[in-house]
Amino acid sequence: MIASEYGTFAIALRRLSSALGRRLSKDESEELPRTFFRLLEPFELPDVLDAGKTLATTAHSFPKPTDWIEVITVQRRQRDSLALLPAPDRRQMSQDEAAELTRAKLLHFSAEPCGCPRCLVAQVDDRPLRFVPTVDDDGREDRALNPQTNAVELAGHWAHGDELARWYVARDACYALWRQAGPRTFPSVVSRDPGEEG
Ligand SMILES: [Zn+2]
Repeated sequence: MIASEYGTFAIALRRLSSALGRRLSKDESEELPRTFFRLLEPFELPDVLDAGKTLATTAHSFPKPTDWIEVITVQRRQRDSLALLPAPDRRQMSQDEAAELTRAKLLHFSAEPCGCPRCLVAQVDDRPLRFVPTVDDDGREDRALNPQTNAVELAGHWAHGDELARWYVARDACYALWRQAGPRTFPSVVSRDPGEEG
């Protein structure tokens, strides 16, 4: 998902909570959409929304982000197992690549800051590393067959240096959008956090 999709996502999350009969407290309605958005960010909006619809009818309690990711993965697997058939040339992840993806998922796509030369030069050596989708020069995401899950998944890598710095700039822009959207979507954002204004 990208920053501009936050509003759509937040609405879907609130629909899901009301479908499951759970009223969000003021604090939750401020924090929950942000937290979920950050954790589900590596996935595409249509996949996230599809999984949300499924959870609205199947979940017994309000789903955790990991539940959401599991449904996304299962639905994607079901869809891609069909899509796989006519594409025998689809790339397969190496075992190392698949293992790193698994580790990244467990770490919620965030890891300890890195002191490599690239991160030092870009002055991001004090910020957590981020695992990001690998995109080619034409902006196409790298989807490959994961031999561990037997599913086609988004391939990713840990961003270092300039790429990591760009990720944080994009994230900061995303937070700025949230602050702008706050008064309309979540009135408590402004009233509870006046220090954020200006
Ligand atoms: Zn680094």
